Amino acid sequence: MTKRIAVLTSGGDAPGMNAAIRAVVRCGVHEGWEVFGVRNGYKGLMEGDILQLGPRDVGGIIQLGGTILGSARAPEFKEVAGREKALAQLRQREIDALVVIGGNGSQTGANALYEMGFPVVGVASTIDNDLYGSDITIGVDTALNIALEAIDRLKTTASSHRRAFLVEVMGRDSGYLALMAGIAGGAEAILIPEVPTTPEQVAREIHAAYERGKLHGLIVVAEGAYDADELLAYFKEHHPELGFEIRATTLGHVQRGGAPGAFDRLLATRLGAGAVKAIAEGNYGVLVGSKATEIIATPYAEIVGKKKPLDMRMVELANVLTQ
Ligand code: ADP
Repeated sequence: MTKRIAVLTSGGDAPGMNAAIRAVVRCGVHEGWEVFGVRNGYKGLMEGDILQLGPRDVGGIIQLGGTILGSARAPEFKEVAGREKALAQLRQREIDALVVIGGNGSQTGANALYEMGFPVVGVASTIDNDLYGSDITIGVDTALNIALEAIDRLKTTASSHRRAFLVEVMGRDSGYLALMAGIAGGAEAILIPEVPTTPEQVAREIHAAYERGKLHGLIVVAEGAYDADELLAYFKEHHPELGFEIRATTLGHVQRGGAPGAFDRLLATRLGAGAVKAIAEGNYGVLVGSKATEIIATPYAEIVGKKKPLDMRMVELANVLTQ
């Protein structure tokens, strides 16, 4: 019997979601299955906004940010009654399994549906990189590069005027983007929700950087740690001794909107293919993620004279995806 699977994107959009949708559709069709797309996340699932997707429907989307299926917040899905509605829609269409591409909230919802007896597989996608079960998630790399581009530009102008910049990046509960953007951008101070820091500590660091002769100061702030404008007002009122003239910039949703870079396209493609594999194996109630980003030291004796082979699984995947 032909399997029928559905895919949806939920919660905050992330660059690379489209590449994941494309991989689910093409790998699913390659298995001989019928694949359906659900519009607007769990909201569309409850409303039955579901359409069949073929390989051509997902052509020309791998390079696009956002999600062609749309995403929405759906508080009703948190209630059993909301999920019953979704189950009725899935059963009416005789759909056998659902792929949920999204972050923490979306995977919590996916698990709730799974616990009601429906076969669900998750794909790790959030620019916050706060999903347990995946070292890196879809969208993080692109969002980070967008933040970095802005930071690099601000540093250039800051140096010309000997200014300090407070740059607020996304991350309500997670400091990942701010920490990595701060390290990669060469920040003097990084403020994240996980590590409480007082404005006084930051003021000391910035003043010390000025005293050391630095031409600019960069403070990267996660939105969950401080509001950049409020912090700016605080510094202006309480810390006239900073040295640098200080300005604030909030990057906001600009960070989500970019075209996915190579890393996110490849990660999303592999995770989408991984979700289809999980369904083929009957491995439900799982989050498909990526592991192993540790830094390791390997003795020369083990590496010299050898050439790392190409991962032939990627060659197979390339063939499947050229539908
Ligand atoms: P993200 O997946 O980006 O973390 P949200 O936290 O907004 O996004 O969650 C997206 C959607 O997932 C919510 O609108 C809701 O429909 C569903 N969801 C979130 N938390 C739960 C929960 N505890 N139970 C059921 N569904 C949930």
